[in-house]
Amino acid sequence: MLRFAPSPTGDMHIGNLRVAIFNYIVSKQRNEELIIRIEDTDKERNIEGKDQEILDILNLFGIEYSQVMYQSNNKRFHSAMALQLLHELKAFNCFCSSAWLDNKREEAKNSKTAYRYDDACASLPDELVIDNESPFTVRIRKPMEAIIVKDHIKGEIKFEANEIDSFIILRQDKTPMYNFACAVDDMLSDVSLIIRGEDHVSNTPKQILIREALGYHKKIEYAHLPIILNDNGKKMSKRDDASSVKWLLEEGYLPSAIANYLILMGNKPPKEIFHLAEAIEWFDLKNIAKSPARFDINMLKHINREHIKMLEPKELSRYVGFADENIGELAKIYLEESNTTKELKAKIASIFAKKDIPDEFKEYAQTIVKIVKDAPYFEEYEDFKNYIMNESGLKGKNLFKPLRILLTGVEHGPDIAAVYKYIKNYIGEIVK
Ligand code: GLU
Repeated sequence: MLRFAPSPTGDMHIGNLRVAIFNYIVSKQRNEELIIRIEDTDKERNIEGKDQEILDILNLFGIEYSQVMYQSNNKRFHSAMALQLLHELKAFNCFCSSAWLDNKREEAKNSKTAYRYDDACASLPDELVIDNESPFTVRIRKPMEAIIVKDHIKGEIKFEANEIDSFIILRQDKTPMYNFACAVDDMLSDVSLIIRGEDHVSNTPKQILIREALGYHKKIEYAHLPIILNDNGKKMSKRDDASSVKWLLEEGYLPSAIANYLILMGNKPPKEIFHLAEAIEWFDLKNIAKSPARFDINMLKHINREHIKMLEPKELSRYVGFADENIGELAKIYLEESNTTKELKAKIASIFAKKDIPDEFKEYAQTIVKIVKDAPYFEEYEDFKNYIMNESGLKGKNLFKPLRILLTGVEHGPDIAAVYKYIKNYIGEIVK
């Protein structure tokens, strides 16, 4: 079983989508199920509707899953497992107040040492625990030995026992801390491999410790993906527009192109342009570079163009707001000066829009419009142009400039005969 475990706390980040895509590919390769676990236990950070938005994005990208779970529905298991640990003395109640702990943290900071909980409550006599009315958290006992994580991408990572303290698993209100909920849920779902972002590496030994303490000794495999950097070499954050999947989609990047790029980044694929389904045939986590991948929007633009070229004309036509496949073909011509469906849509819209003719050509344009109104249908641009030339007596710049603007809305652009081929059925609508 594989899982993708997004938090419904904001727009989906491309790093998260990359994690989802890799989980999907590997689940297909291993013939194991993929479940989606919405990690919604942090009530204050949850944003209403984000869970559905994430699922919609997964559907749009063709990421199939067998089940959607909500972490909050597992609360009774989290409580039961924490009780089990308390009962077996693998966890203990901690009555230290937040102010006290903040103070300790401050002291550690001032003496430039890493803060570790000092186990003040680790071995309180029973009479101080039972009937104690003070609020308390529940902490799991720190490990006695180093914890070794074997990661498919990072190799072996060793966490010394003293790097991990007795950390909190249940808050004072008895809601589970993130690591506890996550470790328990992975265990309950019988997860075999966890693919997630490298920001979770430091959580891994804690989650292993929790499962071991619960008597679950199955080795879960790990693959932590390197972070994605922006142009300035900084971690891509919410401030980088392109970090948001929603933004990229709104800007006219095709899901298939975004997926292609996210699989290509920091990887050694046998080819540059491909679809997700093909990647299942050759993808190997072992080929993912350990170092952070740099997001290159120009590369994504290039890939997007290639994917737009591969679209059926009818489908591309829908992206630019039409149903006629001729308009899809027309849009493909404009790929020579556009990278996204949004840009293509604007080009096509300008063809059908009311035209803004510069003063010097206004009179000629009016003449052309009048002639076109009564003109017969022409299959070829040459014949259409010759007809207007003969009827108007216009030639050279005075004919071609206003004619191009009347047909396309702009003075420059692709070969006009090629454009005409796909707009000839709409001439009456366009030249006005
Ligand atoms: N909910 C976590 C996140 O969105 C993922 C945790 C995990 O994959 O274990 O970053």
